[in-house]
Amino acid sequence: MNYSIIQLAREQLNAFENDYQVLVKKINLSLFTLSKTNLSMEEKEKVWNGLLEYTKNIIRRVEEILEKLEGVRFSLNEVVLHEEKDNLIQEYHLLIKKLREEKETILRQKEKKKIIITPLRQKAVKTGYCYFCDISIATDFPYKLKMEEQNTLGIEIVEGAAFCSQECLLNYCKEYKNREKMRQEEEKKNKEKIARDRQMITEIQGQIANLTSRINRLEQRERELELLPESYQVERPENTGFWRRLGQKLGLAKKPSPLSRLERVRKLKGELSIQLEKTGEKLQKSLIILSLDEQKEQERKRLEKKNLLEKKKVSAHEKELLDE
Ligand SMILES: [Zn+2]
Repeated sequence: MNYSIIQLAREQLNAFENDYQVLVKKINLSLFTLSKTNLSMEEKEKVWNGLLEYTKNIIRRVEEILEKLEGVRFSLNEVVLHEEKDNLIQEYHLLIKKLREEKETILRQKEKKKIIITPLRQKAVKTGYCYFCDISIATDFPYKLKMEEQNTLGIEIVEGAAFCSQECLLNYCKEYKNREKMRQEEEKKNKEKIARDRQMITEIQGQIANLTSRINRLEQRERELELLPESYQVERPENTGFWRRLGQKLGLAKKPSPLSRLERVRKLKGELSIQLEKTGEKLQKSLIILSLDEQKEQERKRLEKKNLLEKKKVSAHEKELLDE
């Protein structure tokens, strides 16, 4: 029973790794193409929701197997089975971590749908009316904030705006402050995201540099070994204990490598090359995410600037009216 769970977990792991690769490709493709389509927000959201469901499904299935695996008990002298179980558990945890990272990527794309917060829109001043509640104040005392007061409070009010009451003036200030706080938080969040993206790219670049130099060293080693007489390349047989030998018989533990030193170097080089390729894909994805996050912040800045220009236009218009 215990043994069959180990076997199932081993077989499933390959299938799950395959599902993970497919998922990564799908996400990369969506990241790359969706921003170039004319799909509406809702349609894009649908694509991300589909991918989110797909990811959750894989995670759920992986966790199910992991749970079974963690429940398996072996007696103390079944060392090989223990090792195999621990290795599998580690690999399952790693896979779940990778899948959760992909889930995060999807959730971040879904988040993009949120409206961009801009400074409080300035409406045109109607002379003789409360700027907040629009009732006529032609005959009443208008409440105003002088420029110095606005500067001290950190509140901007369009030139010529007046309020019917202290309450309306305070309400306007409150609304302004809230909006400003939200806007600043959004700006901070965007900037932090971009910084994190850049950090991620820096780390991946480091991994690529490291892998590349390791591959170069192996290539050097390969050339050296190729020049040696064949007898030098043969591996000495390993000293293997009873349980390990038994495990080998059952096909659970790795047999002592029958590979020559040269073959081993080549094998390792091949493995590192595959890792390098995968890391390259990760880098590509991170670059796309950075580009999308930067686009969002640029759009936010553009809207802010546009708002500022409109505000200027409003006050210029006011001046014209006063000058007439
Ligand atoms: Zn009012």
